[in-house]
Amino acid sequence: MTNPLLSDWDTPFKLAPFDKISDTDFAPAFEEALIAHKAEVDAIADSAESPSFANTIEAMEVAGESLNKVLSVFFSVAGADSNPAREDLQRAFSPKLAAHSAEISANKALFGRIKAVWEARDSLDLSEEQQRVLMLTHRGFVRGGAALEGADDDRMKEIKGRLAVLGTEFTQNLLADERSWFMPLEEGDLEGLPDFAIDAARAAGEEKEAGGPVVTLSRSIIVPFLQFSPRRDLREQAFAAWVARGANGGETDNRAIAGEILALRQERAQLLGYDSFADYKLETEMAKTPEAVRGLLMDVWAPAKAQAEADAAVLTEMMHADGVNGDLAPWDWRYYAEKRRKAEHDLDEATLKPYLQLDRMIAASFDCATKLFGLKFRELDVPLYHDDCRAWEVTRDGAHVAVFIGDYFARGGKRSGAWCSAMRGQAKFPEVQGPVVINVCNFAKADPALLSYDDARTLFHEFGHALHQMLSNVTYESVSGTSVARDFVELPSQLYEHWLEVPEVLAEFATHADTGEAMPAAMLKKVLGAANFDQGFATVEYVASALVDLAFHEGDAPSDPMAKQAELLTELGMPAAITMRHATPHFAHVFAGDGYSSGYYSYMWSEVMDADAFEAFEEAGSAFDPETAKALETHILSTGGSVDAAALYKRFRGRLPGVDALLKGRGLAA
Ligand SMILES: [Zn+2]
Repeated sequence: MTNPLLSDWDTPFKLAPFDKISDTDFAPAFEEALIAHKAEVDAIADSAESPSFANTIEAMEVAGESLNKVLSVFFSVAGADSNPAREDLQRAFSPKLAAHSAEISANKALFGRIKAVWEARDSLDLSEEQQRVLMLTHRGFVRGGAALEGADDDRMKEIKGRLAVLGTEFTQNLLADERSWFMPLEEGDLEGLPDFAIDAARAAGEEKEAGGPVVTLSRSIIVPFLQFSPRRDLREQAFAAWVARGANGGETDNRAIAGEILALRQERAQLLGYDSFADYKLETEMAKTPEAVRGLLMDVWAPAKAQAEADAAVLTEMMHADGVNGDLAPWDWRYYAEKRRKAEHDLDEATLKPYLQLDRMIAASFDCATKLFGLKFRELDVPLYHDDCRAWEVTRDGAHVAVFIGDYFARGGKRSGAWCSAMRGQAKFPEVQGPVVINVCNFAKADPALLSYDDARTLFHEFGHALHQMLSNVTYESVSGTSVARDFVELPSQLYEHWLEVPEVLAEFATHADTGEAMPAAMLKKVLGAANFDQGFATVEYVASALVDLAFHEGDAPSDPMAKQAELLTELGMPAAITMRHATPHFAHVFAGDGYSSGYYSYMWSEVMDADAFEAFEEAGSAFDPETAKALETHILSTGGSVDAAALYKRFRGRLPGVDALLKGRGLAA
């Protein structure tokens, strides 16, 4: 019997046949696909024909089809639905995969052909997208070390392999710490918690077989606990465990791993001729230099810190009035901020939550896409990797556009956070290929499932990424969808969050779970008014993380990252009651892989643009202005990475954005 991962997927929309795939299929399929890809690459490198765009660059584009199939399925389940067998597989695959791509990027014959095409580029009559793909391919090889020789070359290979292993270990340690800790609650400890938080604590207790409700380190459980529990001692205990993830000593400690990763990255950058890893990393970004990044972050830091300090004074006073003396601690901030929100905005999460039903919010995110881009959604009945997953066919004017999959609920074995990935990217070469896109979230499961306002934003955010994939309209898969500069990739997602705040959207879709009634106008006004609430806190915890990430990668790697982190926070004058959003031992963005290393700033860089981009709709007089929506699709959502990010933004808006729109958006403008 053929391995179902490698067979032709004769399924609706050529989706992976999840009902036929078992864990024992992955290893043999992986090995076979790896060998096949290697043979294809060797055939390109050793071709007797003289190098051309078609026999080199386009041939590379189509190579590795089987490997892509196997890995798209494997990484989906390893991230969203892991188990010990899949963790073992990931540990086995990761060094092999690193070695495989290292072998390709170090293939001298292949690089020689790419270089030859690159040097002949002006005489090849290439389209704009082809020139871009050629430039990216050539630059990718140079940055990967293809031009290195001898000992430098060997060392680069070692570094890459080791970094891949360390990144996987970092992730698995974090998951182990998140999974192993929980705090049992007595019935009396539930006092003050809203129903949804009690339900989530009970469900988590059942999953852990704890014989009663528990607090876990899942963001959707611990954050409400910190917001609502009047038990300061329990908040402190839970908070201490939360910030200690990856720093508990023993086998799952990530601190030494972080240090080794930073040292290897710096060595890698220097081998390639860059002063620092940040210089190397930012070369391909819209920001281009560390100075540009620091400039933006520091422009935001001062007003954010001032706002946070003013807020801390208010919260401290509330705490003292509560009979608790001393300084406001990090485990107090969310609790008193929630009380303040209730007092000043008379809007508490528990009252709001029944209006934010998951199903209605999914419908809202779809409806906005219908109004803006004419997309229609039809739910499908297809086998997926978990019963919680749902799938829709996305069409426009009757024509197939994409398949969209949503995997919304938290469970053990799912990585924390939320993400979007393409199980298959859009392409027109060698033939038309419709995207299959998945959003994975960690919402607390219940019937009906209710979201916090933050959760609803996350839903819109990830759906914005999904639109970037689904509306992609390029020729080559390597530049399709979200294959763009890291500091540009959050523009579509953060921009899409703005539609959740369009009053008519909540008015239509925020209906009460029990009564079906629309959100009362007064509450709607408060929700929208509260959007800027506590932005001093949110901006400070984020910018501190981004500045530490940047400093870690400038110049020599710190011998003790934890000491360096402490030093930087002191220099910045970090408010005492706020911690970094992600401290080093659990900063997965930066250490689980290379994606956001010296790139965590990019969320804010993108937010500068999203505020400015949404203003284009406001200037046009409607959040659904058809011409602006068309321009957004034409210049941003359909173009992927086929054009430089700064150029794309200028085509959409006629100019580049500045920091003022961001400060205004966060309520931090003086
Ligand atoms: Zn995102």
